[in-house]
Amino acid sequence: MEQQTEITAAFIGVARHRLRRDGKGVTTLAAFHSCSLHCKYCLNPACLDNKRAFPQYTPQQLYDKISIDNLYFLATGGGVCFGGGEPLLHADFICRFREICVEDWKITLETALNVPLENLKTAAAVSDAFIVDIKDCNDAIYQLYTGKSNHLSLSNLEWLLQNAGAERITVRVPLIPDFNTEEDRQRSVEQLQSMGVKQLDLFTYKVSK
Ligand code: SF4
Repeated sequence: MEQQTEITAAFIGVARHRLRRDGKGVTTLAAFHSCSLHCKYCLNPACLDNKRAFPQYTPQQLYDKISIDNLYFLATGGGVCFGGGEPLLHADFICRFREICVEDWKITLETALNVPLENLKTAAAVSDAFIVDIKDCNDAIYQLYTGKSNHLSLSNLEWLLQNAGAERITVRVPLIPDFNTEEDRQRSVEQLQSMGVKQLDLFTYKVSK
């Protein structure tokens, strides 16, 4: 009989007791290493660091670590937020974790959506909520800031809006010093609203120069 290899993934951190920051209720943030983008002011630069060794967990090992907060999750309607890095590079890991974890835990994905649609489809099928970091809808600004085009992110967002529903999606639109302006951001907001986005989180990156 063929033996199944257990999935593992590297994590830059696991942060407990995050209240209403990464989803409803008490949430544990599990931050994957690695990302498909290279943002100039990456909020979690460790996820792009390939020189350090980060802890590796199987879905079961991560579950064992996180389940210490089971009662908090159940009492508040919380659960786990997969972030990073880019969690959608680990869609199979997230599916396996969902199979193992308590049914009532909520799974939230914090993602830039700049991944193949198949990855999104796989993870979306087992997730409850989505925090989408869209950065800027202007492709030239996006490319300067992240090193890649935003076409994939925006087409994936269309798919997600149609298939998960706008109520489950929050789109984050930052003001990025030296990269976009209030006017650029307003244009992004209008484009996102015309796509059907209902929940927006507008904020400003704090950059130390
Ligand atoms: S998408 Fe997020 S994790 Fe990835 S490089 Fe940009 S800020 Fe960093």
